[in-house]
Amino acid sequence: MKLYAPRYYKNFKCIADKCEHSCCIGWEIDIDKKALLKYKKLKDGYGNIIADTISMDDTPHFKLVENERCPHLDEHGLCKIITNVGEEYLCDICREHPRFYNYTSIAEVGLGMSCEEAARIILSSSDYDAFEYIGEVDAEEDFTDFDGLTERGKIYKILRQEKNYKSRLEEIYSKYQIDFGNDETWLEILDSLEYLDQKHKDLFKNYSSKNRPSGKTQNEYLERFLAYLVYRHTTEAFDYEDFLLRLSFCLFCERLLASLICSKGAKELSEVATLSRIISEEIEYSEDNTEALM
Ligand code: SF4
Repeated sequence: MKLYAPRYYKNFKCIADKCEHSCCIGWEIDIDKKALLKYKKLKDGYGNIIADTISMDDTPHFKLVENERCPHLDEHGLCKIITNVGEEYLCDICREHPRFYNYTSIAEVGLGMSCEEAARIILSSSDYDAFEYIGEVDAEEDFTDFDGLTERGKIYKILRQEKNYKSRLEEIYSKYQIDFGNDETWLEILDSLEYLDQKHKDLFKNYSSKNRPSGKTQNEYLERFLAYLVYRHTTEAFDYEDFLLRLSFCLFCERLLASLICSKGAKELSEVATLSRIISEEIEYSEDNTEALM
């Protein structure tokens, strides 16, 4: 099956020891069957250390150590599995992060916003609607009657128009008959979510559909953030109703970022990337939270 990616995809490289919010801290990493088998065959040296770090409770995973660090993360932010036994011993999650895949009549890969380097690349790339063929992938076509690729293209077409961002957004809301909903209700839902960091719960209390920055660059970041969400969440919709639900979710996350930009006075790329990363890790990367908001 043909695999496509946004043009900016090829610019990604994990910044490892330079990463301030490493994905190897704070997340429990599940180990897939294939990797588990490989670790079992590694009898000596670092293989013994790996064996000691695996918990078989529920889904096999690495037991986090102090400060919720992956046990294989060294003091320089490098992975000791790679440095001791090689990259081919990484489990699927570690090899793939921060990538995600869309399967429709074609396969697509993207970069997830929860990674700070990915967030920086996505928000600084204006060509979010340019895709490139990057190879083949072993997967089956996923046929549904609904064509999420075409519908996504229509949203990108609106976003690409030569008028201000606010008007383009209004056109999307009006075309798909989506409204902001009630701020109080959204705030109640935000309050009920599960959070990795309780400080983010307080941060999200700044949500208001009335808050929107006026700066040109801030709006460009918001446009790219929305385009990313649409790419990630609407493409695999199985019917029009499902598409609308997913699009409403994307638009809510965009409004949340707009609110946070205003409350924090964020202007620089690094500031907006941080806020985008927080929304992504707290909402997008939690199935329960995504479901609650959809
Ligand atoms: S969050 Fe991104 S840049 Fe940071 S360690 Fe993970 S993959 Fe690398």
